[in-house]
Amino acid sequence: MNISDNKVVQMHYELKNDQGQVLDSSTGKDPLAYIHGMGNIIPGLEKELLNKTKGDKINAVVGPAEGYGVKDDQKVFKVAKKQFQGDGDLQVGMQIQAENQGNMEVGTVEKIEGDEITLNFNHPLAGETLHFDVEVVEVRDATEEELSHGHVHGVGGHDHGAEEDAK
Ligand code: ZN
Repeated sequence: MNISDNKVVQMHYELKNDQGQVLDSSTGKDPLAYIHGMGNIIPGLEKELLNKTKGDKINAVVGPAEGYGVKDDQKVFKVAKKQFQGDGDLQVGMQIQAENQGNMEVGTVEKIEGDEITLNFNHPLAGETLHFDVEVVEVRDATEEELSHGHVHGVGGHDHGAEEDAK
């Protein structure tokens, strides 16, 4: 069975940045599962997996535009440190919730300078070129239920009880 829209794909993967540093991997875990064509994974990788089948190994290089987006300087800004008093010691790399244009979003502390901190609300992988090593371990049809939920159930997918499924 080849990968096409509405197929459930299970894959093992390793993600590296341009420097060859491993950012994420499914090694030692369940494979990652997604429904093809539903935007569950980044567009650049989804495109590379089209028509592949169980056992196929691919190597995909995905630029920011088809990955986690280009880094947007508008999403990086300075705020007064005192706004975050009570959050304990702020450290570079720490993720904190803050209001960004009226929405609560998670930002990363990028810099701390005196009374000012620089927050970055871009996705941590924005601007990165992503290098994926992927092995397709299973391809099957998605069930009606999975299609209506928009995500995979079972191995590598959502493990939510019957209660939540009934909603
Ligand atoms: Zn579900």
